[in-house]
Amino acid sequence: MRKWNFNAGPAALPFEVLEQIRDELFDWQGQGASVMEISHRSEAFLTLLRTAEQDVRDLLKVPDNYAVLFMSGGGNAQFAAIPMNLAGPDDVVDYIDTGIWSRRAMSEAKRYTNVNLVASGAESGYTDVPSQSQWKLSPNAVYFHYTPNETIDGVAFNWVPYVKAPLVADMTSCLFSQPIDVSQFGIIYAGAQKNFGIAGLCLVIIRRDLIKAAPDYVPSVLQYQIQEANASVYSTPPVFSWYVASLMFKWMKQQGGVEKFALQNQCKANDLYQAIDESNGFYRNSIADSARSILNVPFRLATPELEYQFITEATAAGFIGLKGHRLQGGIRVSIYNAVPQQAVTELIQFMRAFQQRQH
Ligand SMILES: *Cc1c(COP(=O)(O)O)cnc(C)c1O
Repeated sequence: MRKWNFNAGPAALPFEVLEQIRDELFDWQGQGASVMEISHRSEAFLTLLRTAEQDVRDLLKVPDNYAVLFMSGGGNAQFAAIPMNLAGPDDVVDYIDTGIWSRRAMSEAKRYTNVNLVASGAESGYTDVPSQSQWKLSPNAVYFHYTPNETIDGVAFNWVPYVKAPLVADMTSCLFSQPIDVSQFGIIYAGAQKNFGIAGLCLVIIRRDLIKAAPDYVPSVLQYQIQEANASVYSTPPVFSWYVASLMFKWMKQQGGVEKFALQNQCKANDLYQAIDESNGFYRNSIADSARSILNVPFRLATPELEYQFITEATAAGFIGLKGHRLQGGIRVSIYNAVPQQAVTELIQFMRAFQQRQH
């Protein structure tokens, strides 16, 4: 009944997690009610919150001088919250443009502060990350923002920039996909619906010295200081999203943690890129080798008609979520932690058979 799901977000959840959600839906932990129907200030829910935070700290080895906040509004809310909390109207912030999400972040920041565009992938047609030697960093930037994994363009930094200003990273589509050294960052943020849950929740890992009183015009729910002081429950949080994320953290731990997922994700991506590259141009991905995303693999076929046919036949064969982003077209295969190797292996078999049928 369930199909192989390559959606970019909302994306596939592990079967075991869905089973647990089903089993607990009517009676969560003997409460006689579901997790959606009890107070977010009840002891049971507060325990869930504390455990979820500890699991995040364990999975990513988050140092003590970082706060772990759970906020509403997804990645887009953070596009605004970050400049609002950290920069005033007279400050300068650095952004690098490597694709659609970094541009979205940048245009939001422009409403609150002065954005310096450090470099743009436009020159390469967004097929590569501009090399750091070409960047025009501002000497007094309050922070430097980048998007390690461009979910739509399929372009990734496979390295961490080294800059003087605090590093702010939108890890919406890559957090928990591999180990990271949190201490290299000022802020890491990620919406849950790509790699660790469902929409409505955004994880913000922030170095404590960056949590300061925000200007008065900043909405309370977006102020890091208020969220931290209230243990992320200043207002009613998206309790179900939070619950699903808590199950995902446990599942990731059981599976062997982010180190294990890094290996699996690399294998899945290698297999898929190899299949594309060995198709004699039938399937094409034009991203530079060093900037290829291991989580979102976009590719094209010769014509939009052939792409449409590919998607139609793939759907009928049990592969869903392959249609590229509406701004981009083509095909996109998203292979987050919850997508097993078998899904990719079977998709590759389908791709080979589809290609053969065209001759
Ligand atoms: C999906 C995505 C977003 C947007 O997240 P929302 O939760 O929809 O606001 C932002 N950044 C990246 C890298 C994404 O993949």
